[in-house]
Amino acid sequence: MHSSPPQPFSEPVFVTRPLFPALADYQAALEGIWERRWLTNKGVLHDELETALAAHLRAPHLSLVANGTAGLMLACRALELSGEAITTPLTSPATVNALNWCGLKPVFADVDPVTLTLDPAAVEKAIGPETSAIVGVHLYGRPCDVEALQAIAKRHELRVIYDCAHAFGTEISGRPIAEFGDASVFSFHATKLFNTAEGGAVAARDPDIKRKADLLRTLGIQDETTVALPGINARMNELEAAFGLANLKIVEAERNARAEIAKVYRERLAGIAGLHCLEMPADVRDSQHYFVIRIDNTRCKVSRDQLYERLKAFNIFTRRYFYPLCSEFAFYRELPSSRPENLPHATRAAEEVLCLPFYGALGRDAARRICEALTYLVDRG
Ligand SMILES: *Cc1c(COP(=O)(O)O)cnc(C)c1O
Repeated sequence: MHSSPPQPFSEPVFVTRPLFPALADYQAALEGIWERRWLTNKGVLHDELETALAAHLRAPHLSLVANGTAGLMLACRALELSGEAITTPLTSPATVNALNWCGLKPVFADVDPVTLTLDPAAVEKAIGPETSAIVGVHLYGRPCDVEALQAIAKRHELRVIYDCAHAFGTEISGRPIAEFGDASVFSFHATKLFNTAEGGAVAARDPDIKRKADLLRTLGIQDETTVALPGINARMNELEAAFGLANLKIVEAERNARAEIAKVYRERLAGIAGLHCLEMPADVRDSQHYFVIRIDNTRCKVSRDQLYERLKAFNIFTRRYFYPLCSEFAFYRELPSSRPENLPHATRAAEEVLCLPFYGALGRDAARRICEALTYLVDRG
């Protein structure tokens, strides 16, 4: 006997909904922009947001940029990387494509089966004479094994970049995430916890990295007659900075609202055979970026892909971040490190992960309904 199916949502529910500030707040900031007639190139709001974010993220030196991908590229250039960079295949194409755009050859290393971040042992094995850096991703806000990666980098004289796109406000034992590695790159894309529509930042402990990133984001122009570095245009404009300043006021409330939704998911999804929710270690402050479940395709009555497809009938649109792996893209597939045998844990994770709708405005009732639909679909098999 099966229970009757839960009602589908009347409107589509997506994996996220961009955080919007109060319109009045944004309008007030726009008035200032209209008065000043200054749209880009280190506007006052740009500098104000840069300072506010450095304080919020407790990042000693921070450069705002146009987006996270450009931030990764600037970090590679500021650190003068060359040759090969070791990275994870379980990430946004942004991470790996940014390396490619900087003329770096990506070398994929497998992830830890539980944390889904770079496995330090696999990283160490992937090091060769051309390796210049390790590019880790704090996937879903769960930090990489920063101590182990730092030790490896030190031993082999490598640089470390962290992709912090999912780790806005993450802390490890009270230490801010931007404290680790030579550069930490954030994305403020619309779909991230904190957004400026499009945007990002490069954070570093070394002021020289900021000096270089600041130059590189504006074509390397030092003054009217001096172009000091072969930079690109990766500037954030005043409209985006205004949006960010207004959103920064509400981002903590958004994080807390998401934490409430996560509680509902964890309670209601506990005990479903073959389904488990990704956990954050006790010493980590959770960025609440995504809510991720894993479906063990051998133990659950439905596969991850069946769930993903069948949830659509309830107007629930989940995402399989990050499937397929970057190592499977046509232009990376032929790399020796891309062989699935080299990446068993990442390969398995890409077949099992599912990101559920997760944003403050979703509300706990909707989260409960999503759990009902999930439970129903698994029960029905
Ligand atoms: C979103 C994202 C990026 C890219 O950021 P953009 O601002 O969209 O360029 C990089 N890495 C990861 C893991 C991401 O999720």
